[in-house]
Amino acid sequence: ESKARSRGSFTLFVKEMDARYLERQRLKADLRAAVDQHAITVVYQPMFTPDGRGLVCCEALARWHHPEKGPIAPNIFIQIAEEMGIVTEITEQVLRRACFDCQTWPEAIGVSVNLSVHDLRQGDLAATVERILSETGLSAKRLHLEVTESSLIEELTPARAVLDRLRGLGITISIDDFGTGFSSLSYLDTLPVDVVKIDRSFVRNIGQDARRLKLLRGIVSLTRGLDIGIVVEGVETREQLSLIKKHNCADLIQGYVFSMPIAPHAIAALAEEAEVNGIAAHVGVA
Ligand code: C2E
Ligand code: MG
Ligand code: MG
Ligand code: MG
Repeated sequence: ESKARSRGSFTLFVKEMDARYLERQRLKADLRAAVDQHAITVVYQPMFTPDGRGLVCCEALARWHHPEKGPIAPNIFIQIAEEMGIVTEITEQVLRRACFDCQTWPEAIGVSVNLSVHDLRQGDLAATVERILSETGLSAKRLHLEVTESSLIEELTPARAVLDRLRGLGITISIDDFGTGFSSLSYLDTLPVDVVKIDRSFVRNIGQDARRLKLLRGIVSLTRGLDIGIVVEGVETREQLSLIKKHNCADLIQGYVFSMPIAPHAIAALAEEAEVNGIAAHVGVA
């Protein structure tokens, strides 16, 4: 009897596997269609100076609204796209959109686009970027590209060459999710990067846990000597913001405390407001 039951549960297990597999296959087909139809959209999250007065740059974040399932998180569909080998198509679409939208904003505002590790492996990233810049007419100075620390470690040799070329065009290179990739801080000064974006996991508990604040300050002070810009991501509360300001932990702040990711036209409105009043007045943190 117990054998039968375990056979029964095994059958159930197989059925669940089948269902999950089919679900995944369907999602892949839907993503393929979405990419073909250019249905991946882009929202932008601004980065501000710590006083909240300067809107310096906006990060492009991809969005996929599935016709039946609703919004699918980018962490999920980017990974699926990587598995399918189509992430570079998404990168190219986001990049073109971002450069185009950035052109509609005041000239002081840049735009930052996330790259996948697959983009670094592909030989012609720099050529693609150059082509999109000339198509959209955006100055390379306004474009930032983000590579995660882990993909940089994984693909250091090819990455170095492509990043050098991109920097040669005048593009700013940022290391995203900095601190999570276990890279040694000692070789940070040998990497072709201009900015680190300290991962939000280093911010989360700085108000409650003195050791977390020390860790954040430690990362910052090691980076400060290297002529590298520091963005702190995921700043959610005023308490976190004031600690970061007090200890001079950031050149730029990105997080819900200032703004969620928003539509491109909302960036233009925010830019105007920041210029006039400072966004700090808007969120009440001045
Ligand atoms: P990321 O590049 O580190 O982007 C920051 C993520 O943190 C975004 O999530 C943003 O909405 C979220 N965030 C910003 N401020 C806060 C905050 O104060 N608190 C919290 N809890 N979260 C905050 P999102 O849009 O879901 O994107 C997740 C990840 O997906 C991104 O992490 C990036 O790795 C990837 N991604 C998004 N768009 C693209 C893309 O176009 N290409 C590639 N390759 N990856 C992308
Ligand atoms: Mg990013
Ligand atoms: Mg990030
Ligand atoms: Mg992150």
